[in-house]
Amino acid sequence: MEIGAGDLRTQYDLIVVGTGPAGLTLARKYEELTGDKVLVIESGRRSKDNNEAQKLSEVSATGDLPSAYSLLHNRRIFGGTSTVWGGLCAVLEKRSFLNNEWPFSYDELYAYYPEAAEILSVQEEVHTRPEIAFPGNANIIYKPLYFSPPIRFNESSESWVDSNTNTDVLFNHSVMRVNIKSSIAVSVFARESSQEGETTTLVEVFGSRIVLATGGIQNARLLKLSLSGDSKVVGSYFCEHQHALNIASIILDREMFEQVMDKEIRNFYHVISGHAISLSSELSNRRSLKSVLFTFEDERVQRNNLLDQNRSTILAKVHVIAEMSALSSNRITLSNTRRDFLGQPIAHINFQFLPQEIHAVAERLNAELVRSGLGRMSILPKELLPIGGGHIMGTTRMGDNPDTSVTDAQGRVHGVENLYVAGSSLFPAAAAANPTLTIVALALRLADQLARTK
Ligand SMILES: Cc1cc2nc3c(=O)[nH]c(=O)nc-3n(C[C@H](O)[C@H](O)[C@H](O)COP(=O)(O)OP(=O)(O)OC[C@H]3O[C@@H](n4cnc5c(N)ncnc54)[C@H](O)[C@@H]3O)c2cc1C
Repeated sequence: MEIGAGDLRTQYDLIVVGTGPAGLTLARKYEELTGDKVLVIESGRRSKDNNEAQKLSEVSATGDLPSAYSLLHNRRIFGGTSTVWGGLCAVLEKRSFLNNEWPFSYDELYAYYPEAAEILSVQEEVHTRPEIAFPGNANIIYKPLYFSPPIRFNESSESWVDSNTNTDVLFNHSVMRVNIKSSIAVSVFARESSQEGETTTLVEVFGSRIVLATGGIQNARLLKLSLSGDSKVVGSYFCEHQHALNIASIILDREMFEQVMDKEIRNFYHVISGHAISLSSELSNRRSLKSVLFTFEDERVQRNNLLDQNRSTILAKVHVIAEMSALSSNRITLSNTRRDFLGQPIAHINFQFLPQEIHAVAERLNAELVRSGLGRMSILPKELLPIGGGHIMGTTRMGDNPDTSVTDAQGRVHGVENLYVAGSSLFPAAAAANPTLTIVALALRLADQLARTK
């Protein structure tokens, strides 16, 4: 239930920071599995009115991302950024699991997709039919795109906040740092998210286990503010999805394309919201190429209607959503010069896109299309690719090696017994699929893990 700072218990079994898809999925599932006492702390207000907290996500920036990037792509409010997300859902491609970039198996992640799809109200085909190989050339895959309605987590958890008795939810309070003593996270310090700033009361709440679910930038910032010593790897390996609109044209042989569609998706194409074509994970991995989805709509037809046309070719403009390499130079640090209104250093982003990685895949895909007689694709020169992003990944990445990762394979921060991270900041490799379905799947996995080990 919703509580005020005066109603806080002194000790909780689990403290979850943030009410986006990661935080609310985790808190709800953990409470369902254990019945333990859980506290959820949210920086923003329950309603959208007078939400001063948003300014606490301001950043400074150098490189390819503007300083407006963070405010545009993060919402400090009940439900987090799900209050504005578009709902496009896909399971991660296998590419980065084939060469162990992730520290656990694809099957282990995959096991949580059905429940994640249910939570996001996305068609089950999102996991039962994530992709289809083209007969005659298994190096090319067709990837149907699926949409969540989209689910807004503030709306889907509204009645849960009021009706459940084991979870307290404290709104309009921002966690300033986690108090870590002798490798144990003891408590969190939080302040009211008010322009009154450092004059507001500092609240300390104790938790047996603490999970940060504050989004890709704030997870790194909070960890940097909490960990002692050199935490250089925290915030490094920041990955984005390279988005580019109308950067290529594709011509496909309609008869060949439809043979596949007719055979493979006739029975469920009414639930498909868009089409993408890509290289298979196996080929991408073999050739050290990244995952890139080339999405398109047939110019003269409505979406979902590709099968009903009479033309001999499909001619379409192509948009791209692309994975990029994780570079330690793409990183979030703390600003030396600017603080937010609660007195904390803001985050600084240094970031550069890698358009050449899109090009390498486009060239290979074109060669495969031509080789199989399916069609061809031409792409703008890489200098002309208009690239934007919006998915913040990798800044507290999972891994086995503390020198190159921040958490272990469960999401537990290396060197701290009971501090965890949830969200796409855990992704050691971004894949090209939109992240939220996987964020929810990973949060379910962590809830399971926490319940099993309490
Ligand atoms: C315009 C737009 C469209 C998008 N479309 C898609 C899409 O189609 N498909 C897709 O998969 N993804 C999409 N996304 C991305 C998606 O919204 C995010 O992946 C998802 O919301 C991340 O969930 P999260 O819980 O990790 O973080 P968030 O949703 O950002 O939630 C973080 C929460 O933590 C709180 N918080 C932050 N700092 C603190 C603190 N110090 N103390 C307490 N609380 C704090 C915030 O207030 C917020 O409630 C889109 C994003 C945008 C901006």
